[in-house]
Amino acid sequence: MLVIMRDHASDTEIDHVVNLLHEAGAEAHLSRGEVKCIIGVIGDRDVMYALDLEGLPGVEQVVRVLKPYKLVSRDFQADDTVIRVANTSIGGQAFAVIAGPCSVETESQVLETAQAVKAAGATILRGGAYKPRTSPYAFQGLGEAGLRLLKEAGDEVGLPIVTEVLDVRDAETVASYADIMQVGARNMQNFMMLEELGRMDKPVLLKRGLSATIEELLSAAEYILKGGNRQVILCERGIRTFETYTRNTLDLATVAALKTLTHLPVIADPSHATGRRDLIAPMCRAAVAAGADGVMVEVHPDPEHARCDGPQSLPPRDFDALMVDLVPRIEAEGRLLGGEE
Ligand code: PEP
Ligand code: MN
Repeated sequence: MLVIMRDHASDTEIDHVVNLLHEAGAEAHLSRGEVKCIIGVIGDRDVMYALDLEGLPGVEQVVRVLKPYKLVSRDFQADDTVIRVANTSIGGQAFAVIAGPCSVETESQVLETAQAVKAAGATILRGGAYKPRTSPYAFQGLGEAGLRLLKEAGDEVGLPIVTEVLDVRDAETVASYADIMQVGARNMQNFMMLEELGRMDKPVLLKRGLSATIEELLSAAEYILKGGNRQVILCERGIRTFETYTRNTLDLATVAALKTLTHLPVIADPSHATGRRDLIAPMCRAAVAAGADGVMVEVHPDPEHARCDGPQSLPPRDFDALMVDLVPRIEAEGRLLGGEE
């Protein structure tokens, strides 16, 4: 349920509504603009409706929300959420380019990649230290040593870092290195993990599950916001379809749809979506045109010898060419790479 307060409702009026909700056992989440305050209510529906809040001073309207998500919805917050990490932003006018290797392999590999993507204009460095691999015999990542190398490389070139937290038991460790915590596609509905990240004060990059619907993705994000952490970035990374030529199917309609349904930033990951180096540039262009707030691209100094996802990684030269092509398109959409300095 949403309680929409009248324009310029007073603090006393707002507090009164919030107190009544708390007394009735509900949670009240406030979204305050300069003029309007909207209160998102989470609690037993029947009890909430029985409160008859519409008659209270300062209350304009009570909206019954049928969707399973509230806090992530545009109804709750009309303005885009802008997430600031270090000296760069994602959302609003700011367009993010996240680039780096699938997995952190060696000190020189990650540093070389970091230097190349920074020079080309990337705004955030990525790299996996804990890797979710289909085969238990495949390279599983360097663990905490990988986190350290990624952070050192990020610090060296001046880029914030995003890395995956694979297990809720590693959340504190990953948070001590990462600027953004990535939840991988396979963990999108790991509700304990989502709740844990909801209690943390760190931006979360939430990837869409392999066969998750838009509603399931938004409901997963809702878990994080409900815990108090409003800094969530959604990522379309391709879904499973009957097509096998591409690794997954990049669902850009979902990017455009999400932009209307939620205030959270939405990015696209053409590397995991297509699995093919040759499709990354066209799909980045399409993502920009579809209204994405950023792209995530895998880059490796020597993709042929990458320990993970080489075929979908760009060598630095190609990433550089991609950025030269992409930046004017980003600006043509009225966006700014990394946002305002
Ligand atoms: C990744 O980005 O490193 C990754 C494993 O992606 P996904 O969870 O989308 O498969
Ligand atoms: Mn990968």
